[in-house]
Amino acid sequence: MKFDINAITRKNVRELKPYNTARDDFKGVATVYLDANENPYPTEFNRYPDPKQNALKSEISKLKQLDPLQIILGNGSDEIIDLLIRAFCEPGIDNVIIPQPTYGMYSVCAAINNVEVRLPNLSLDFDLDIQNINAYLNDKSKIIFLCSPNNPSGNLLEQDKIKSLLQSFSGIVVLDEAYIDFADSDGWITSLIDYPNLFLLQTFSKAWGLAGLRLGVGYGSKEIIQILNKIKPPYNINSITQNIALTEVKKDNPITEWVDTLKNERRILEVLLNQFSFVEKVYPSQTNFLLVKMINAKACYQHLLTKGIIVRDRSSVIHCDNCLRITVGTPNENKELINTLYDFQNINL
Ligand SMILES: *Cc1c(COP(=O)(O)O)cnc(C)c1O
Repeated sequence: MKFDINAITRKNVRELKPYNTARDDFKGVATVYLDANENPYPTEFNRYPDPKQNALKSEISKLKQLDPLQIILGNGSDEIIDLLIRAFCEPGIDNVIIPQPTYGMYSVCAAINNVEVRLPNLSLDFDLDIQNINAYLNDKSKIIFLCSPNNPSGNLLEQDKIKSLLQSFSGIVVLDEAYIDFADSDGWITSLIDYPNLFLLQTFSKAWGLAGLRLGVGYGSKEIIQILNKIKPPYNINSITQNIALTEVKKDNPITEWVDTLKNERRILEVLLNQFSFVEKVYPSQTNFLLVKMINAKACYQHLLTKGIIVRDRSSVIHCDNCLRITVGTPNENKELINTLYDFQNINL
């Protein structure tokens, strides 16, 4: 199906004349800046940040082998999810498709914007069920939100199924790759060139260890990025975030050591967790967490809680009956987890 950016962009966004910052009007380097009503006395932060984040995008573009014009930065991926919905979905008319279970923010953002949410289920092995998704689509469907590796199940979605959606759907397929650094896959960034309706989300919150900084990254065609740039708050990435991220991105192999350690710990945890009598299944994971099916997840959650260990109870989520989602911690934290689970097993023998 042919993808037409104009056909799927909201009319008011298409016609919008974006806010011009002082830094948009003057792009060079000057000695005296009297154009933005800033306080001239230098604190570290008296100047507005670069609204286009050029230095940071330039470094990210080298890392990802993409044109900087294919990159948008957000105050967390969450801001980019919101921008996507506001750019392409007419409130009260359009809908978005969000196969379940997955990350909760897509539905919440859509609901905040009064955009209808359609929720087909993933198959029991947490993969795409194309027939079922097609049954939920209509001509008002603007975005399909996919997450691969998926949260909370931890698996990569099957490539051919994603491809078939990219080929058949006339709206945007958003593929959230928040956990891609932990996966045995390079993800879809090199496929952007083949699919004008593919949009990728990544984040500095997981493998990069910068969740507190709030920095999410979106990758897409220049056309999609241009639309999102029109509606984003001009100064959405503050100076501290831009500077720290820039320093991190410039390092040689900034995340390799962490990622290797966490993947190794994930393997160890998977083996140890499988040995408990109360554990029914540890789902294979391509992320920094494990979804674990138990005989009584609530009791296990409570036991861990009383020992000061907090995990995520996902047992009310579709396909996740009696499941806890456990983030991989440091080797010591993981040992403490396992020891506490031995206690739980002994109490319940
Ligand atoms: C953690 C997570 C994110 C990160 O969101 P930020 O706003 O960038 O912190 C995005 N998507 C998924 C699926 C996640 O699990």
